Amino acid sequence: MKCPVCGGEAKATGKEWKFGQFDAKGYKCSSCAKSFSAYYKAGKLSHTVPKAK
Ligand SMILES: [Zn+2]
Repeated sequence: MKCPVCGGEAKATGKEWKFGQFDAKGYKCSSCAKSFSAYYKAGKLSHTVPKAK
């Protein structure tokens, strides 16, 4: 997963959950240390949401 903040390599945290009709996964960027969530719909990436922290 490409980091939406810096474009670096972000790794899955292993955290996954359901959000309405989306499947969400947690990611953390190894370049800028930002965490974000990626939302998938029908197996395709829909959008990413940066975490506040
Ligand atoms: Zn980053």
